[in-house]
Amino acid sequence: MNDLVLRARAVRKRFADTEVLRGIDLEVRSGEVLCVIGPSGSGKSTLLRCFNHLERIDAGRVWVDGELVGYEQHGTSGRVLRERREKEIRAQRERVGMVFQRFHLFPHRTAVQNVMEGPVVVKRRPRADAERRARELLDRVGLADRADHYPAQLSGGQQQRVAIARALAMDPTLMLFDEPTSALDPELVGEVLGVMQDLARSGMTMIVVTHEMGFAREVADRVVFMDEGLVVESGHPDELFTAPRHDRTRAFLSTVL
Ligand code: ADP
Ligand code: MG
Repeated sequence: MNDLVLRARAVRKRFADTEVLRGIDLEVRSGEVLCVIGPSGSGKSTLLRCFNHLERIDAGRVWVDGELVGYEQHGTSGRVLRERREKEIRAQRERVGMVFQRFHLFPHRTAVQNVMEGPVVVKRRPRADAERRARELLDRVGLADRADHYPAQLSGGQQQRVAIARALAMDPTLMLFDEPTSALDPELVGEVLGVMQDLARSGMTMIVVTHEMGFAREVADRVVFMDEGLVVESGHPDELFTAPRHDRTRAFLSTVL
């Protein structure tokens, strides 16, 4: 059990009167790559955001690395408790890297400055060390020769690879990807998926929300199909793509395959 990097139990989340997550159970083991698929509006982004404390869950529990991410109502009353809670949240957030559809790089900083920002500001690493490591990471995503370029001088695919390097710079135990190639021109999708595939091979634990069924099929250890705030089914890609058990999965797959 202690090789579980993420565990979610009965997670619920509502916005106003819409329940967007209606009781999600999920487990991700160390080194596992999980792909999450499902129609637009099914709650995929919200789920990732809950795992990274960008959203507060209404009910249920989330553990990352064995530590509870859920929000205890009674823990939010006193100022001391609240401050302790916020410190815990920050510590956990550092362990979960997130890559979004849009890259969110700092426009007035070069690639290497973007990548070293987190380690320097959040982890108080010496600049020289952070820079050396940032250049290594840029090399790893195939951008050694673009380290001193500004985001505007990079293609979308290159910017997304910088965003991946930036997340890796924090030494996360879990990487979350929310449709990382959806904003890219088709010819740039492959280079980003290639970097993600390398990362998966290196043993990184990953949850990837994606419409790239080829990637899911090839790289995922498990595919999760979500619809209307629920996990409808999950299984090995060979199983889920070729013999889905539920009508809703079948209907969705017929629109995307
Ligand atoms: P997906 O990523 O699967 O497309 P989302 O998690 O983005 O789905 O959204 C699920 C539902 O929650 C949608 O109906 C969306 O409009 C709604 N939603 C998401 N974020 C918010 C928000 N901050 N406020 C209100 N509604 C939201
Ligand atoms: Mg989404």
